[in-house]
Amino acid sequence: MESDDVSITVLDIGGTHLRWAPWSAGNGLGEIRRGPSPSIARHREASVGELRAMLVRDMSGAVPPGGVAGVSFGAALDHRTGIVYGSAPLWGAHVGRFDLRTALQEARPDVRWHIVNDVTAALLHLAGSKAAAGLRKIMLVTVSTGIACRTIDQRTGRIAVDGSGLQGEIGHLPACVTLDGVPVELDCDCGAPGHVAAFSSGPGLRRLADVVRHADGDSWAASDLTARLAAGEDFEPALRAALDGGDPLAGKLLGLSAKPIADVVRTALCLDPEIDLIALTGGVAVGLGEHYRAALLGHLTRDGLYLTSAHDPGWIPDRVVISDADGLIGAGLAALRGEERLAPVRGEERLAPVRGEERLAALRGEERLAPVRGEER
Ligand SMILES: [Zn+2]
Repeated sequence: MESDDVSITVLDIGGTHLRWAPWSAGNGLGEIRRGPSPSIARHREASVGELRAMLVRDMSGAVPPGGVAGVSFGAALDHRTGIVYGSAPLWGAHVGRFDLRTALQEARPDVRWHIVNDVTAALLHLAGSKAAAGLRKIMLVTVSTGIACRTIDQRTGRIAVDGSGLQGEIGHLPACVTLDGVPVELDCDCGAPGHVAAFSSGPGLRRLADVVRHADGDSWAASDLTARLAAGEDFEPALRAALDGGDPLAGKLLGLSAKPIADVVRTALCLDPEIDLIALTGGVAVGLGEHYRAALLGHLTRDGLYLTSAHDPGWIPDRVVISDADGLIGAGLAALRGEERLAPVRGEERLAPVRGEERLAALRGEERLAPVRGEER
């Protein structure tokens, strides 16, 4: 272990669970502990202020005196300021922004807090893996309860953001899905109609199943997916098993749900040819694995990139993989980057800290990441 191997407490804050562990670049993750998130679903009587105070108390209690904390937070937030733009699973819809960093600093002024969005944290883990070495830009797309993506420029370590500190909130882009030529109308969890997440998130996939059931009752009644659901299987394992067995209706359903994601991936590759890798992660993409990748590539093969896909049919498939990534490790890497930024500036000013890059380079090949499927690099 290096003498300057900083020990960091890493925390992963989700809508259902909190996880935390000690982590260092040299020793990796220690024992992971977990507990329930203080969410509105668990504490229906509590106010948003009380829920936030419980969260700050729980997070503060996980970090030893004088420690450094890296936080992966499952909500849209500005990591430059630590301001969270609401979290429907934790606090319900439309409750306004929350200055999480200030609240944590007031509760534990002895701790240096570094907060990033969970998609950013997962991307940082992927960016430090062998699969990402030597690439120009990497996009990570999470397909789970919610949907979002982030792109990092590996040459500088930069994750560019807009004026609100955000990037890649693709779940709330407009999307179009048609069933037998008729546009499907579904509302997003944010309340707006027809967003990507309305069709492509885990809950969106289940809503689409209801649409298919009503539109094509005969196919629905004859499908293996229906038989499995009737036998009491949970939706996602039932869908996976039906896909394994080649059930046509399950394939059609997944194809519909993956279409908005395929549209985003196609547009991303069209606008930024420096994206060398697009990794899909999150419960839906990882749970359905190669079925998900095949559904995505089905769309992208039928409707690919103008000229490029004709000249080089492998251009898109070579770039699309399903990959697991751990937000806890990413939170540690984010904290390391933050610590380097806090250090006195040495030499010329740079966009990304030199030592941080060296650390990330050193981590390549050391951090454990689930095998990247769908490509050989
Ligand atoms: Zn939305």
